Amino acid sequence: MPSASATADTIHQTLQKVFGYTSFRPRQQDIIEDLIAGGDAFVLMPTGGGKSLCYQVPALHRHGVGIVVSPLISLMKDQVDALLGNGVAAAYYNSSLGADAARQVLARLHDRALDLLYISPERLISGGFLDRLADVDIALFAIDEAHCVSQWGHDFRPEYAALGSLREHFPDVPLVALTATADVQTRDDIVRVLGLGNARRHVSGFDRPNIRYTVLEKHKPFEQLQRFLHGRTGQAGIVYALSRRKVEEVADKLRAQGIRAGAYHAGLPGERRERVQEQFLRDELQVVVATVAFGMGIDKPNVRFVVHYDLPKHIEGYYQETGRAGRDGLPSEALLLYGAQDVVTARRLIDSNQNPQQQRIEIHKLNAMVALAEAVTCRRRVLLGYFGEPLQEDCGNCDVCTDPPERFDATVDAQKALSCVYRVEQRFGIRHVIDVLRGADTDRIRTLRHTGLSTYGIGSDKSEQEWTSIFRQLIHHGYLEQDIANYSVLKLTPRARPLLRGEVRLELAKPRIKETAGKSRRPRIDTQGPYDEALFDELRHLRKQLADAEGKPPYIVFGDATLVQMARDKPLTEQDLLAISGIGQHKLEKYGADFLNAIAEYCMANGEQGTELPAALRDTWLACQQGLDLDAIASQRGQTLTETAEQLIKLIDAGQPVSAQRLIARKKYEMIESVLEDFGCAADWQTLRDALPPLVADHEIRLVQAGW
Ligand code: ADP
Ligand code: ZN
Repeated sequence: MPSASATADTIHQTLQKVFGYTSFRPRQQDIIEDLIAGGDAFVLMPTGGGKSLCYQVPALHRHGVGIVVSPLISLMKDQVDALLGNGVAAAYYNSSLGADAARQVLARLHDRALDLLYISPERLISGGFLDRLADVDIALFAIDEAHCVSQWGHDFRPEYAALGSLREHFPDVPLVALTATADVQTRDDIVRVLGLGNARRHVSGFDRPNIRYTVLEKHKPFEQLQRFLHGRTGQAGIVYALSRRKVEEVADKLRAQGIRAGAYHAGLPGERRERVQEQFLRDELQVVVATVAFGMGIDKPNVRFVVHYDLPKHIEGYYQETGRAGRDGLPSEALLLYGAQDVVTARRLIDSNQNPQQQRIEIHKLNAMVALAEAVTCRRRVLLGYFGEPLQEDCGNCDVCTDPPERFDATVDAQKALSCVYRVEQRFGIRHVIDVLRGADTDRIRTLRHTGLSTYGIGSDKSEQEWTSIFRQLIHHGYLEQDIANYSVLKLTPRARPLLRGEVRLELAKPRIKETAGKSRRPRIDTQGPYDEALFDELRHLRKQLADAEGKPPYIVFGDATLVQMARDKPLTEQDLLAISGIGQHKLEKYGADFLNAIAEYCMANGEQGTELPAALRDTWLACQQGLDLDAIASQRGQTLTETAEQLIKLIDAGQPVSAQRLIARKKYEMIESVLEDFGCAADWQTLRDALPPLVADHEIRLVQAGW
């Protein structure tokens, strides 16, 4: 058994070499070390927290194959593709495999040729698979989406319950259960069912600090969506709407605007849905408009925004859906369009539920959602508070924090509103009361003779949205209530009295109707400062080409975070590339040259530092970019080696990306480099010359020295 610090060193090496990351995320290292040491673990980490690495690294370090149980076939394929992309021997075994392919996987399993095997619970438990495992070395078992084990969870799957037998069958193999959503009851249940009594529990916070939460008063939602999308060209996102009809409608309208949008809901044929999902993963669709049916198994890391076109039914759903944004850790947006009518619709739906207890629960959950939407305090505070995780300070990354609502003395407006409710005898809903206040001339008002009321027209100074906001807040603060059982008519509460009598004053928040989030310039997806956005777009284009050639989604090549860093650092050598997060040895070999060339070409075309090169230098540079070495460039240009080297040195001095390493023989390069290391690159010429054998030419020394 290696010592703890030796383990720490070697797992860091794996992290860098295989996955290309420089450091572990919070908790990952603890979990990995526990598993390598043979312990069990229970892992609760939010979506995007980096759960996969927690079992992938130990599987690579322990003897034998890591068996990963996952309920979602599409997700297995993604994970396996990503692992293969990093050079890890991974496979999956589920009902999507044909007989031949399945046999091949089993053969590789028995040949000990696999590091990781993803398997569906049905396959693992049935057909004698467990017996089969008896003569296979197993590194660990990982149960992904472990909440499916529990009846208390929101996604109980009976086939998962059978996984309880793993502990008995394999008492000595480490077992790790992972989930992103489990309340306390569900957590205990998972531990009980899977026999994880001795497992260490790793629970990390629910907060997703990279997601910015914004809520807008819904008003002409399609226009709001359009404004939001404007300037987000090429950024992937999901728009959730409540009904299938609306999903299709919004998707159609977006397409009419030239946006690559697809529709997804349970009413569409299976192949259509799969196609939309596939195109989205491959960055061929920018936006998917969907009902909540879309999402399970969407493992796309670079979703930059999630828009809720309608109000979700509960915070759990909202949080899970918004959590699909920014899994790669880069800044992302969650925009909720919130309208009063949505609440009425949702309540009506709940009312149609026959089970009174369920009705109560649903109303409670809806109220919490409404409270979040109407919050005038930090949204994240409300959200995390709901999950029992109090936030110490305001987050600074939600609409309320970044743009605190202006407050105004609403005493008089509130009095107008409340007395109007009283005048219509507490028998009408928000819409009609506002019509009366604003002096609208509708058939209904005339028929009801509401033009004769003393409150008719006294609120014509305010728009309909302003009044809606005031009414909403009056409800929220408990001055009014909506009679759900009776068409949501407005009723005064006892709290309204002192306000009406002028005994207390009231401050309310000014409504937000304007598109603050979308009005701002294209949000830059950077975390560590500015990067070259035009280069980023070029690299994205290259990534797409490479991915298409392999028939894979683009993020399998590199994630957005990796491209952003390339567009910032503009690496010119393989060494520089390796320093970038997300590039391990395998990917360097596979894609390194393509990306280095693209970056170099871009720097050239854009005259990095604004230098315009003379034509002669330019031709030499282009030859260099074709990957030719010094000899080949010189002969192509009809120059002596010294002449070519001089031009290359000029290019280097002009700040052009020329890598001396690629130009001369490796042995010689290394000799020169080590001399430079010994004497420093400012050493005088003779010292360097004397330190190197005659077979190293002067121009070669000069070239390497210039590159240093
Ligand atoms: P989860 O399964 O918890 O939702 P994933 O395992 O899919 O999350 O990881 C989310 C993203 O974070 C992936 O793109 C993954 O490659 C990346 N990631 C995970 N761990 C690290 C790390 N230590 N450093 C950088 N990126 C990481
Ligand atoms: Zn906040």
